[in-house]
Amino acid sequence: MRAAVLYENAEIKVEGASRRIIELPWKQNPLDIVEINIPAPMKDQVLIRVEACGVCYTDIDIIEGRVKCKLPVIPGHQIIGKVVESSNGHSSILLGRRVGVAWIARSCGSCDYCLRSEENLCVDFKATGCHVDGGYAEYTTAYKEYVYEAPENVDASKLAPLLCAGAVGYRALKLSNIKSGLRLGLFGFGASAHILIQVIRRLYPDVEIYVFTRSQEHRDLAMRLGADWSGNPLEEPPRKIDRAIDFTPVGETITRALELMNPGGRLVINVIRKQTPINLIYEKHLWHEKEVKSVANVTRRDVKELLKLAGEIPLEVHVEEYELSEVNTALRNLKSARVKGSAVLRLI
Ligand SMILES: [Zn+2]
Ligand SMILES: [Zn+2]
Repeated sequence: MRAAVLYENAEIKVEGASRRIIELPWKQNPLDIVEINIPAPMKDQVLIRVEACGVCYTDIDIIEGRVKCKLPVIPGHQIIGKVVESSNGHSSILLGRRVGVAWIARSCGSCDYCLRSEENLCVDFKATGCHVDGGYAEYTTAYKEYVYEAPENVDASKLAPLLCAGAVGYRALKLSNIKSGLRLGLFGFGASAHILIQVIRRLYPDVEIYVFTRSQEHRDLAMRLGADWSGNPLEEPPRKIDRAIDFTPVGETITRALELMNPGGRLVINVIRKQTPINLIYEKHLWHEKEVKSVANVTRRDVKELLKLAGEIPLEVHVEEYELSEVNTALRNLKSARVKGSAVLRLI
């Protein structure tokens, strides 16, 4: 089978970017497209013919060494495909089914977190396309307890971004403790938020949604997808908000969201790293029972619920499709913010 393999960490070369001082080779094509054997499913695994696999910012972190993974590794953790083989009889029910595979490849099943269904926080969390090979390939294997039925009536490319951008956003929504009648602010409106807003509209029709983003194009899209108001993050919205989800890489968004928040409100931060500092002043930003919470990874339940919803709601998911052979181009475009929506590798 053909696969895109990372043999050694390298910095992805982007036109116009000045070289940073890090001890990594500066490579135009960090992934090699190679011909390798189709993997055999091990105990409790299934073999999946990959239809589509999303390209995520975390894949850039993996390639550039900020997320430590096995090497060599086949990246890719937003996989949609068909189960073509199983390692034992138990999983035969999945044969022929379309499934999704997300960042969570497996968890230990016995730690305190796993026992209370918070396997996203498992002490022995194994990630797809990192600790085990992922979906930048024609075939991949996955643990049968960690694959999820995916709707057949939706294009594979449009389902792939739901496995990470979508599912983490959906988890952030649940962690925000949103309730009918509240006002929710979304800060940043990229791959994750444009999916999430459609889910919110379906699940919470009377939640008022304000979208804060610098991009006029994104503000227009937000209004078309159901926002009640959209504006620049520094603009004053019509009213204060009760909940907020922050999708932006900058620390300033946290203070801004908390300034705009009603007492008792909660902010969920849906990013792994902030590129600029956070200057919280307790009296101004947290007093009056305001809460701040981060979101890490996804649980199986998050992914299952979102894929089920995707079969029921005609979600508008913006994707740019690439062939497997174009994976390095996809990564460069993503790194230089030239992808509109989500980048997806199309395998079939
Ligand atoms: Zn991801
Ligand atoms: Zn565990």
